[in-house]
Amino acid sequence: MIGDTLAHIRATVREIAERCGRNPETIKIVAISKHVSAATMQMAQECGQIIFGESYLQEAEPKIKQLPHALQWHFIGHLQSNKAAVAAELFQVIETIDRLKIAQALHRHAGCLGKTLDVLIQVNVGREPQKSGVLQEDAEQLLREMQQLTSLHVCGLMTIPPYGEEPEASRPYFRALNQLAGQLAEKKLFYDNETVELSMGMSGDFAVAIEEGATLIRIGTAIFGERMQKTSQLIST
Ligand SMILES: *Cc1c(COP(=O)(O)O)cnc(C)c1O
Repeated sequence: MIGDTLAHIRATVREIAERCGRNPETIKIVAISKHVSAATMQMAQECGQIIFGESYLQEAEPKIKQLPHALQWHFIGHLQSNKAAVAAELFQVIETIDRLKIAQALHRHAGCLGKTLDVLIQVNVGREPQKSGVLQEDAEQLLREMQQLTSLHVCGLMTIPPYGEEPEASRPYFRALNQLAGQLAEKKLFYDNETVELSMGMSGDFAVAIEEGATLIRIGTAIFGERMQKTSQLIST
């Protein structure tokens, strides 16, 4: 039952937060629903899940239109500029900003729609050539260039660490993201520099991410089970 699974994950999040002296209310679960049917998502929603994350626009669009409007949608995939209009319309949060061009496109389209988009900067902390995201040393410049894009609220940072068998392997990357967020907040580069969002941690390593300051944990497999796209990755929780 998805309700039991969600309850279990929420209890785990609470436990870890309390153990490391954090307020559990500051940690939100983003249910990653790529390749999950709208019917299954509806069950999760009925069990109190409000935030969903999707990687593919084409797949997300019909589900977003079908499911209740009160849900909050995060885009977590790679975004192309020519898809910015659709993304700006469908999502409340874009977690994967990694270049000025996409930020400008989103700003323009959000402006036309009369809405403000919350965005996160994706940082390639692991410096993996195959991964999206700005390098740590380039984040400040991107944030500075984005200051004039008033239809975007830059709420924080997001990262996907290099894949590791052990959750502990992610810790240095999460810690580095948190440190970078601190430095950028000191320079007042976020929309709210007192509460900066850190999107980090997935099914296999969210406990470590919470210990390192995550405010958004992106959980797919642990909620919905293994899906067909899983090939190289086996999660043990
Ligand atoms: C699929 C995905 C997740 C969820 O991963 P699980 O291991 O299934 O929890 C989180 N973040 C991103 C960016 C993803 O693409």
